[in-house]
Amino acid sequence: MKTIGVLGSTGSIGKNTLEVVRNHPEQFKIIYLTANRQVELLIEQAKIFLPEAVCIADKSKYEQLCEGLANTNIECLTGEDEILNLIRDRHIDVLLNAIVGAAGMQSTILAAQQGTDIALSNKESLVMAGELINRICSETDAKIFPVDSEHSAIWQCLAGESSEDVERIILTGSGGPFLRRDLSTFGIITPQEALRHPNWSMGNKITIDSATMFNKGLELIEAYHLFHLDESKIDILIHPESIVHSMIQLRDGSVKAQLGVPDMKVPIQYALSYPRHISSDWPRLDLAKIGTLHFEEPDKDRFPSLRLAREVLKMGGTYPAVYNMANEKAVERFLLGKISFPEIGNEVESALKTHKSLDPFSLDDLLSITKLS
Ligand code: NDP
Repeated sequence: MKTIGVLGSTGSIGKNTLEVVRNHPEQFKIIYLTANRQVELLIEQAKIFLPEAVCIADKSKYEQLCEGLANTNIECLTGEDEILNLIRDRHIDVLLNAIVGAAGMQSTILAAQQGTDIALSNKESLVMAGELINRICSETDAKIFPVDSEHSAIWQCLAGESSEDVERIILTGSGGPFLRRDLSTFGIITPQEALRHPNWSMGNKITIDSATMFNKGLELIEAYHLFHLDESKIDILIHPESIVHSMIQLRDGSVKAQLGVPDMKVPIQYALSYPRHISSDWPRLDLAKIGTLHFEEPDKDRFPSLRLAREVLKMGGTYPAVYNMANEKAVERFLLGKISFPEIGNEVESALKTHKSLDPFSLDDLLSITKLS
């Protein structure tokens, strides 16, 4: 039995994680759950999974949480510091970090410092603090198990291979809802249109990131830190059907791919059950029914996010953290109707131009970047 803490249990990945756990009660036991504001859903989840503790980050929801769980033995906590205290004080086998954005970074760092293995969905942690996290993991022996479907695919393809045999990795991406849209109409894209992803049902922030392809830029940086390959050896390939989740190419030219239906429960379950693949009853891939798969190069004019991701990786220092943070802020403004869709990329580019990078940098430096408006 593996004991698990779930951060962000009320989000898209969090809910999928709880479905995986519900399907395997003999394999997994939830020790704690955390959320930001969705207190009613957190109470409902707590009543089903009976964790030792739950924490709601938003303090104004604490009373409601306590009332909702008054007749249970579940400890109720509140505030972001208490999320960190859970990670520090409760022993678990795996922490599943599904908080969205930079708000999840400290949790990943602290879990790594504790030597706790991390099933990592919060890619922003690695984008902002990849070197720091890798250094801590090598000291404490904490492992990172990728949840992102592309990185899970690469991780599975790499099994049994020597790192010197790997020539390149190929991250696939659907291209999002605007792959074929006339570029001259990007200025009038509405948040509602951008929130309609063709293949995946996800939280709002990553759905917008998929439309701008900042998600693929973040994944490029994530892959760099997870698999220790130079940026020039990480390719991005558009694959609208999202069936081939990613590939690796070996030095004899052989290519290994991992395929499956687009369902996040699959990589979540593998991150929790690693090193075993355990049973599931969700739909199987039917290639004969799908018939044809398509691949194409990404259009760099359409998606400046990809060019900027490669630039910040080359520049290093705190540039990748600013790339992430400026994007998070711009996505918030776009969703509020304050800026247009193309302005998301423009805002990130101008934040990078004015940023004075620090190298080396500390956690405090990163935390001050998260506070930039
Ligand atoms: P959601 O927006 O659906 O969920 C985010 C979760 O984080 C919610 O539980 C939310 O709580 C919680 N949360 C938000 N802000 C804070 C905070 N300040 N402190 C504590 N908790 C907070 O996001 P997703 O599930 O879509 O994505 C989560 C992460 O996984 C992201 O990093 C994303 O890039 C990554 N990912 C997601 C995929 C997907 O299919 N969704 C695929 C691959 C990666 P509340 O609900 O109460 O607001």
